[in-house]
Amino acid sequence: MQDLINNLPKLAKDKHKENKTFFTKLKKKPPKQLDYIMQDLHEEEFKRTDCLTCANCCKTTGPLFTDKDVDRIAKHFRLKPSQFIEQYLRVDEENDYVLQSVPCTFLGADNYCSIYDVRPKACREFPHTDRKKFQQISYLTLKNVAICPAAFNIVEDMKRRIKL
Ligand code: SF4
Ligand code: SF4
Repeated sequence: MQDLINNLPKLAKDKHKENKTFFTKLKKKPPKQLDYIMQDLHEEEFKRTDCLTCANCCKTTGPLFTDKDVDRIAKHFRLKPSQFIEQYLRVDEENDYVLQSVPCTFLGADNYCSIYDVRPKACREFPHTDRKKFQQISYLTLKNVAICPAAFNIVEDMKRRIKL
């Protein structure tokens, strides 16, 4: 897995133009059953890929924390939201709360998330490949294929399965 993760930025770069063309066409004319196809591809990929052998998203990018995430996680630590923010978060260029540093503070050496049950919504949903109206997040996916081996494989499968 680590070899694939190390190679992923290059693989993604090599596929960038092809992926961009594909996503542009997908956005213009998404197949009627796209939500169903994405669900299927996502489930198949995550039967093969075990996130516990990877954790590259937790190691290299942090999630956004919504106000609800902050309240829930602060409560978990018995902190006030303001204390949690001060200890762990910062405001980024887009005015969102993000982690002060990566790898994520809550990631263990065994790749387990120590706040798994209360983790941010963005972590629960990453890499967003089973999202409804997937064609609307193609810009995000173009970036995610360089981070997430599962997203990379799903996009490759999409190009094989969806003829545009
Ligand atoms: S979501 Fe993707 S990047 Fe994150 S751990 Fe799973 S396979 Fe790795
Ligand atoms: S909160 Fe948990 S799932 Fe989210 S980035 Fe940190 S370790 Fe990963």
